[in-house]
Amino acid sequence: MSTEKGPNFLEEVVSEDVKNGKHGGRVLTRFPPEPNGYLHIGHSKSICLNFGLAKQFGGKTNLRFDDTNPETEETEYVESIKEDIKWLGFTWANEFYASDYFDKLYEFAVTLIKKQLAYVDDSTAEQIAASKGTPTEPGKDSPFRNRNVEENLDLFERMRKGEFKDGEKVLRAKVDMASPNMYLRDPLMYRIKHVAHHRTKDKWCIYPMYDFAHGQSDSIEEITHSICTLEFEVHRPLYEWFIEKLGIFPSHQYEFARLNLNYTVMSKRKLLQLVNEKHVSGWDDPRMPTICGLRRRGYTPESIRDFCDVIGVARRENIIDVELLEHCVRKDLNKISNRVMVVMDPVKVIIDNYPEGKTEMLPAENNPETGENGGTREIPFSKEIFIERGDFMEVPVKKYFRLGPGLMVRLKHAYILKCESFKKDEKGNITEIHCTYFPESKSGSDTSGISVKGTIHWVSAAQAVSVEVRLYDRLFKVENPQAEEGDFKSYLNEKSLEIITTALAEPCLKNAKPLDKFQFIRKGYFCVDKDSTSGEIIFNRTVALKDGWSKEQQKKSIS
Ligand code: ATP
Ligand code: MG
Repeated sequence: MSTEKGPNFLEEVVSEDVKNGKHGGRVLTRFPPEPNGYLHIGHSKSICLNFGLAKQFGGKTNLRFDDTNPETEETEYVESIKEDIKWLGFTWANEFYASDYFDKLYEFAVTLIKKQLAYVDDSTAEQIAASKGTPTEPGKDSPFRNRNVEENLDLFERMRKGEFKDGEKVLRAKVDMASPNMYLRDPLMYRIKHVAHHRTKDKWCIYPMYDFAHGQSDSIEEITHSICTLEFEVHRPLYEWFIEKLGIFPSHQYEFARLNLNYTVMSKRKLLQLVNEKHVSGWDDPRMPTICGLRRRGYTPESIRDFCDVIGVARRENIIDVELLEHCVRKDLNKISNRVMVVMDPVKVIIDNYPEGKTEMLPAENNPETGENGGTREIPFSKEIFIERGDFMEVPVKKYFRLGPGLMVRLKHAYILKCESFKKDEKGNITEIHCTYFPESKSGSDTSGISVKGTIHWVSAAQAVSVEVRLYDRLFKVENPQAEEGDFKSYLNEKSLEIITTALAEPCLKNAKPLDKFQFIRKGYFCVDKDSTSGEIIFNRTVALKDGWSKEQQKKSIS
């Protein structure tokens, strides 16, 4: 799958700048999350890009919290964002906050007022919107546009002191009400909000707008390459206007296409709704596309980084198939996880010719991918075992290579069994299967000469550990819920979680710890959930074994 890729357009830009000695050949990027929610897989794309580029060119990356909207921002989010970035494997050079720059930004605003490039506007939000014009029609000047410098300085200071109510006044940049770019039609720089901030508390009641905070923060930190998603392309002229008029460090903005994934939503606002309205158990619900959700689901940082690498960097929006993400995690889990046996829907098998009361310990290889390095463990075998109900057929169809009357099958790591008879209850459910085993057919030292086609997993009844297994499916029934009509939540998949309470595991799983990862033979990859207790272990299915993505790719390469 990983083909040799040439440099992406951002690598080309940075490489060229370094070669030409721009900014002394220095590379400093930043990752600028707003602490108003948990990070999602889309953010990991931006993280990999910002940290990856800096690393590739010997530079550094700042973590900057873009905290200019006090109502929605919380310290809980700050902490989770830091944890997730670290978990993904990245280290920032500095931890900064846009709110660290509030004094500086205020000074910048004063500078622009003095240069007659900013003014206090008493118009209401409605009036401002109404006079903005349309893309084909110029806007109208505000009646306050030509206020003199002294009056503007006085009013702006009184805005800061709290003399006015929310919405009573704003500070606007004096750019061009006829510009074809709507963002240049005297954009807002500051608005009044009598709201406490998660860091500056009650110090401020005016807060800078994104467009006045972001570029100036980049410039204050002397960011060389400010990378963001395509929707900010139209903001770039304004970004450059402020920097030019203030005569400050010339950071430059570059845009790339955001990552979209099918069968999910990827905006913090929508994810917050799912959490608040309890459609999921929390931000870290294993069905969520959040980093913490994926972590709890059993994803590894390596698999997420690999995914971001494989999808590459584009300048065109598209939707990535979630099967590619699943393919990446399978690839990593295949390398690192021990193979164990868990029977989800057990039916009892009694081996009539096996000695009563005997238990043997059979060696089992942990991971054929790592071979000897992965080591072996011992699993108990005895007269009574459990197998999957689905591995037995009362009336076997043709080419059925598992168990059924008269049929033979191999038990993984153990013996060959032959089915002799079975019992049913009055409802017709199989309650007990009777078999004989071939003592000389033991795995690893098989001298029986019997060849069977099928191998099934099993657990020894006496030592089996009861576990809970949570199976997850897509969170939404449709590929692109936000593009559908009506409320995106009406497309939630009501069958996205299935809880299995009947599962029986081999005894080594008794000691599994949260986040431990396993392959359940023939079933999929599973990860211990944090809700587990010493009395009950809970497993999340990370992903089933079947790889839809690889199959698709094979089909494509054949055709
Ligand atoms: P959301 O729309 O999910 O709330 P956001 O863009 O408002 O996301 P920020 O916290 O402002 O979230 O984003 C931090 C950085 O991550 C920004 O540079 C943003 O461009 C980038 N980013 C956000 N979503 C994606 C995505 N889906 N793909 C790539 N980068 C993203
Ligand atoms: Mg944002």
